[in-house]
Amino acid sequence: MFDIAIVGFGATGISLLKQIQDQVFATGIKNNKVVLLSPSEDFARGKAFGDSDEIYKVNTPPRMLSISDSEPQGFLNWMKNLGKPNEDFPSRVTYSKFLQETYQSILDSGLLKIDEIHEAVTSITPLNVGYKLQTHNKTITAHKVVLCLGSLHGPIFKKFEGNPNFIEHYKQFSGIKENAVLIAGSGLTAIDAFRSLDCKKNNEIHLFSRHGHAPTCLSSENRYSPKVLLWQNLLKEKSGTVRLQSFLDILKEECQLIPDGGERKNATYINKKEGLTSYFEYLMGKSKNADLPYQDILVSTRPYMHKLWRSMSIADRISFNINYGASWAAWRHPIPYDVVSELASASREGRLHIHQATASPRWENKQFILESDNGKIIKTKYLVDGTGGTNRIDSIDSPLLKNLIQQRLIEAHPCGGVDIHPLTYQCQVHGKPILNLYNLGPLSKGSLFSTNAFWFNAQCAGHWARQWAIEMTQENMKIA
Ligand SMILES: Cc1cc2nc3c(=O)[nH]c(=O)nc-3n(C[C@H](O)[C@H](O)[C@H](O)COP(=O)(O)OP(=O)(O)OC[C@H]3O[C@@H](n4cnc5c(N)ncnc54)[C@H](O)[C@@H]3O)c2cc1C
Repeated sequence: MFDIAIVGFGATGISLLKQIQDQVFATGIKNNKVVLLSPSEDFARGKAFGDSDEIYKVNTPPRMLSISDSEPQGFLNWMKNLGKPNEDFPSRVTYSKFLQETYQSILDSGLLKIDEIHEAVTSITPLNVGYKLQTHNKTITAHKVVLCLGSLHGPIFKKFEGNPNFIEHYKQFSGIKENAVLIAGSGLTAIDAFRSLDCKKNNEIHLFSRHGHAPTCLSSENRYSPKVLLWQNLLKEKSGTVRLQSFLDILKEECQLIPDGGERKNATYINKKEGLTSYFEYLMGKSKNADLPYQDILVSTRPYMHKLWRSMSIADRISFNINYGASWAAWRHPIPYDVVSELASASREGRLHIHQATASPRWENKQFILESDNGKIIKTKYLVDGTGGTNRIDSIDSPLLKNLIQQRLIEAHPCGGVDIHPLTYQCQVHGKPILNLYNLGPLSKGSLFSTNAFWFNAQCAGHWARQWAIEMTQENMKIA
């Protein structure tokens, strides 16, 4: 029987393995037989970084892409050795090479006894001790199972599945010959799709979403320090839980302290009055001068946002997702300057438009039809899904998730993904922890909030490894 099974071996799985290794080195733990189960096509690379077009960039600088808390500068140094110390946003494929090299170094160290199974897991069944894991060709057993399955998602446009003009993966882009294309979404996946389609400069691209937010531009530096939106002030809530309304009130108060109420108000006004090109140019100008205080305020919540999330009631969290989720995504997750510059050029040349859709697009007379809130009707032959999908687990087409739901080993979190204990990462059903079954990464979004940033998932993996080391050393002491 293996001590630990890591199911899904992408960025989070590698970070977990690395930090287990670090703990084994530090404590001399002997029980360290680990099995890694993940499909061969992205083994030790994952999908987030490994299944990517060469031109797609990471959206976080190298200092935020460390794999282990023992080496906070790990990726930054790797980039220096590559001769690219100043590349702030390398390609995702470059990062996936770093992941593979990290895994090779773990193997070379020989500190862990590692077995690899290059297949997807289809079922996990509890035994008297530990679990039985089934793949197409193999059955193995393990004491502890950690799911690191990545951004599994269900379809938003199920009605278009099977339509050859409905595009869901970047590898299908080369088939698009027409010059007008609809892209659903306005987040990072939609921007990636735009960049692929914009390569030849001959497409007219229409991004759309329910709220119609345009992407925002990363600041060259976060200079503004909040005066009132501070963790210490949030802690003053007497009840011990932070109400969403009080967080929003303090955010508003903070915005009143910055000149003109911050760039968001002005940028939104400019977009409405002067159009998209002026909007991008305004934000790019402010970005160069590191004068984006609203962004700085939101970025300042990074260290504590997951704790604030935990302290909110489920009703508040659902309300946040419904009423503020889209705006938060646009303003809290800005994109690199160079990418905004590409968007601005396309907009200037009349090749990029962003719409607020009044309804989901429809397929009629061999074309997709979208109605925007300003009465425009856009007709295209192709629709690209750049939404990133839904993380409602009942809509995700994964035999493993279906099997785990059926056995009541996991259940949906009301805010998306799988319900887990936010401190132990143990899966839980009706609030009861499932012994020795854990989930790390984007599927824990509803419980942990910040899982769309790799630094956070790596931090959780580090906490898991530490907890495991404490448990193992206590067990070893009992045996002695
Ligand atoms: C397109 C994209 C771009 C991103 N860019 C950034 C970025 O620039 N910066 C940042 O900080 N964050 C980024 N993120 C967020 C990203 O999700 C996190 O960084 C995350 O931690 C990625 O690692 P992961 O291991 O969870 O997922 P992945 O690296 O995708 O790995 C999951 C693995 O699990 C495997 N798997 C799934 N089901 C099974 C099964 N049943 N059995 C076995 N294996 C299975 C998959 O095949 C895959 O190999 C991005 C996310 C996406 C989707």
